[in-house]
Amino acid sequence: MANAFSYACRDCDGMEACPASVVAQTKNEVWKLMELHAQVAHDENPAEWDGETREYLATLIRPVNV
Ligand SMILES: [Zn+2]
Repeated sequence: MANAFSYACRDCDGMEACPASVVAQTKNEVWKLMELHAQVAHDENPAEWDGETREYLATLIRPVNV
């Protein structure tokens, strides 16, 4: 039974070389960590992510059992 959510950056198109992944109890927390990672590692501004980008990223968040 899944009790957490994970996001692996390498699952994202164009990010295959990135080793980072995050795991947290809630999707909301995963989003925060994803946004922080994108800022720190990829110099992105998550405030500029449009609806399509967020929809795509949401499909990459997976339930996991920790
Ligand atoms: Zn990354």
